[in-house]
Amino acid sequence: MPDHPAVADHRTTVIWDPRFLDYNFGPGHPFVMEYRGLAAHLLREIAPISGGVRWQTEVPVADHGTLIRFHREEYIQLVEGASNLERRVWLDSGDTPAFPGCHDAAARIVQGSIAAVHAATEHSAPALQLGGGLHHAHRDRASGFCIYNDVALAVDEACRKVGKVAYVDIDAHHGDGVMYGFYARGDVLDIDIHQDGSSLFPGTGDVDETGVEDGAGLKVNLPLPAGAGDRALVSLFHRVVLPMLREYRPPLVILQHGVDGHAGDPLAQLQYTRAGYAEILRELLSYARSNCAGRLVVTGGGGYDPANVALTLARVGEVLGGNPDGPPLGAALPAEWRDSFAVRAKSEAPRHWSDETRATSETWSPAVEQSLVDRLESSLGRRFPRVR
Ligand SMILES: [Zn+2]
Repeated sequence: MPDHPAVADHRTTVIWDPRFLDYNFGPGHPFVMEYRGLAAHLLREIAPISGGVRWQTEVPVADHGTLIRFHREEYIQLVEGASNLERRVWLDSGDTPAFPGCHDAAARIVQGSIAAVHAATEHSAPALQLGGGLHHAHRDRASGFCIYNDVALAVDEACRKVGKVAYVDIDAHHGDGVMYGFYARGDVLDIDIHQDGSSLFPGTGDVDETGVEDGAGLKVNLPLPAGAGDRALVSLFHRVVLPMLREYRPPLVILQHGVDGHAGDPLAQLQYTRAGYAEILRELLSYARSNCAGRLVVTGGGGYDPANVALTLARVGEVLGGNPDGPPLGAALPAEWRDSFAVRAKSEAPRHWSDETRATSETWSPAVEQSLVDRLESSLGRRFPRVR
């Protein structure tokens, strides 16, 4: 018998195994996992300020029995075969090359996202999987730099653990692999805010895609025009995301926190800033604490500007770790980290946390928003609050 009763440990778990860097498409490819490594490095330097973070740095490779819960046997065999080749072959029509060891690299990221679900349920606390968020992979094919769909497998794991789950995706790109993967499932509420498919890959995710069978009405798409920014993100979060969560009452929420919606991203044209991201993260954390026993899983996602990825995801770790405002935007970044950034990102390091100058004028107005909400209401056959 222990001398003392177990004390609940509600610290946030941050998952970063340096072997996530093995997920590497090679020089010249826009997807660079090293930017997440820079986020982990920065969070390690600043996390003592909040003291609320527990690190998990050893993540095994997900086994076949795990991958087969989402992916088709033939596809897993295709990836395994390509993984053992020295020559480069494509896993899709031209975005996602195989590379030596790609099976293990992708499957380790899957296990990291499943570990985040386990940490959130075990500790009734948030978990951040910095390496995750590969939301484009489909059951039977790679797509958009994503080989295995770690977030889909985390959704599956959450359903097994707690019965049902809400998946919220704020990546600039529509999370098609997750949405279609669970399109007929009633135990997955999927809400996706993204740049509209007429102007950005993968082209899906319009408001009339609302799910089928048991999933009818549980797939919610909010496509934004290029140029939309924090006002759109924050307002729609309040008008649509929170009311849907309150109705659905999920025991666990997964947030795919892609950073390619940030102003200045080279692949997308949205205008979010770190202030907008932090505002909705605080809201979601507060919701999860009040309604989900603290079970909030956050993953990374897309993001093609090294400073945006590193600073935004480090800030996510700080907010989840108990520092709700994050570091002051005017605060200087640690010198040793800046030196490392210059080498690893091969570009000049930012000097401080601020990103205010990166956003240009936002193409969003109350009329544009109301038009989108009207279309969503008629697709879903329900109403949302008129104003915040
Ligand atoms: Zn993306």
